[in-house]
Amino acid sequence: MSRSIGGQSQCLVSRVCLTSRAALLMALVVACGDGSRHPSVLLVTIDTLRADAVSAWGEVQGTTPYLDALAESGTRFADATTVTPLTLPAHASMLTGLRPARHGLTVNGVATEALPVPTLAEHLHASGFQTAAFVSAAVLGAEHGLAAGFDHYDDDLQEPGGSVVRHERRGDRTVDRALEWIGQQEDSEPWFAWVHLFDPHAPYAAPDGESEGGRAGYLDEVRWADRQLGRLLGGLGDGTTLVTVTSDHGESLGEHGEATHGVLMYQGAMHVPLVMAWSGAISAAQRADFPQPGVVREDVVSVLDVTPTILETLGLGSTSEISAAWEADGRSVAEPLAGRVLPLECRSPSFYYGFSVLAGVRQGSLKLVGAPQSAEVDWVLNDISLDSEEVSGQVVVEHPLIQQVLSTEPEVEAPVIADLDQLRALGYVSATLSDAGDARRDPRESMDLVDAIDAANTLLVVGEPLQAWERLEAVPGDYRDVAELHLFRGKALRALGRSAEAVQELEEAHALQPESSSILLEWGRALLEVAAVTNSDAALEGASAAFQQALQLVPGETEAVAMWSLAEIRQGRPEEALSRLDAALDLKPQAGNLLLLRWRALKALGREKEALDVAETIQKIAPELSSYIVPSR
Ligand SMILES: [Zn+2]
Repeated sequence: MSRSIGGQSQCLVSRVCLTSRAALLMALVVACGDGSRHPSVLLVTIDTLRADAVSAWGEVQGTTPYLDALAESGTRFADATTVTPLTLPAHASMLTGLRPARHGLTVNGVATEALPVPTLAEHLHASGFQTAAFVSAAVLGAEHGLAAGFDHYDDDLQEPGGSVVRHERRGDRTVDRALEWIGQQEDSEPWFAWVHLFDPHAPYAAPDGESEGGRAGYLDEVRWADRQLGRLLGGLGDGTTLVTVTSDHGESLGEHGEATHGVLMYQGAMHVPLVMAWSGAISAAQRADFPQPGVVREDVVSVLDVTPTILETLGLGSTSEISAAWEADGRSVAEPLAGRVLPLECRSPSFYYGFSVLAGVRQGSLKLVGAPQSAEVDWVLNDISLDSEEVSGQVVVEHPLIQQVLSTEPEVEAPVIADLDQLRALGYVSATLSDAGDARRDPRESMDLVDAIDAANTLLVVGEPLQAWERLEAVPGDYRDVAELHLFRGKALRALGRSAEAVQELEEAHALQPESSSILLEWGRALLEVAAVTNSDAALEGASAAFQQALQLVPGETEAVAMWSLAEIRQGRPEEALSRLDAALDLKPQAGNLLLLRWRALKALGREKEALDVAETIQKIAPELSSYIVPSR
């Protein structure tokens, strides 16, 4: 089987691995001993739900009556931590029991063809479960690699009858879909449903919320998500179901200078709720065992433990079998385990900003976090039981826990595949694949830059480029070596119509970060604008080259295909543009921007009849783009 001690596993990076994955899977397939069917399994992940926003955990009363009631009917893990505060990596860890560096999905927007070990869904599917996932955000789209083992993976975020690309789906719609599927399942067969609700994620705008953003707006979203959880639990019927509710990460809400989540690893972003409970008819044996009503567990556990714990509770492998089989970082926590050291890691500061990664551990109430790539590592030790806000942490130079911190270097490098604008719309600033020099900044000391860029991103999205520019102008000069800052300065300048200045900023960004496709795309767009004003062939050539390079870095990215085709049409090369667009449309036939450019290329070639057909298609599937189509004379 695949071994990965020391991070040198070759198996993990090749498809040879699939053979051993299959062997792993078969090893754990067992039927219920008494011939009865397994209970069904419901896993609900409420994205961005910090533990203290749940009434059962916090001082906030009445936000989460349904989750509170579930916690009373089952086991509540009072001290559950995520392994990393970011959606895709944390969910991948939850479904595999592996920490991000080992499964490779270390940040949002990347993809894998196959995770190195079978997921919870694959195990349950192999054991005869009908399986379905209902996700509410594009970051968890099937293309990222979590769909293995699911008979049905519902990542369709489109509004009913709508054509606008959506990045998230409201919880009520996701729950409607899940309830419909659950209602269709046969009584004779167990099912597994993973239902992901995205509502508490920023921006905070609950459908029935009264507050305007901020903490109150966040809590409105939590209330709304809890009501959807209530609807889901109410629709489970009498069949025995093992229910697990947790979150991928919390939300910092401004603590330690972090508005949302994804960079720092303080408790606001790391402490998550975790509840496991039986629903429906349960046997006396189940009642006496785990999870039991009214139990509150104080030992520290991790989202890494979710899959091993569910499998053990169902009798699909013991803790030792599961842990040994794929050397999971997670363990079954049906029973408390003494002395565990739980990994914490966050690669996004490096990936997004070129800062150091953060790495750390939890052991008991102790929490150690450091920035191992910074010049002065500054390991900070906190006792969470005494200081859950982590304001009085001690810098430690020598401490036994430092030796327990694992490498965050990915064992598997997952390529970036997301449309970058999609990530941006979700508040993940960009994917610049930063690779700064030797000693990097400590993200804990660089939140003024992160904050300024986040604020500028939001201001640009809501159409306030001047304010965005002023926010970026106020950033201290010693951040001039951060490519992301120049990227956002370029964006703001473009939005202000100052394209020539934008080109200069983006040239600087590109020089600092040549492997970033988002910088190349933005640079190309600025050059196109300059070319439109000055008729400069050199600017057009430059734009074309930038888009081409962006496409090489992220093959298939729709925006790069679209922009390069536009540049080529303007350069008088519609034939080349058309063949590239046709190839891209084979893969994404509904991509409105590609169809629009195909229409332009056909018009440029004088192929009026075909152009008319494309225009009709656009009118049907992307009517919001039809205003760009100039009728033939
Ligand atoms: Zn998330």
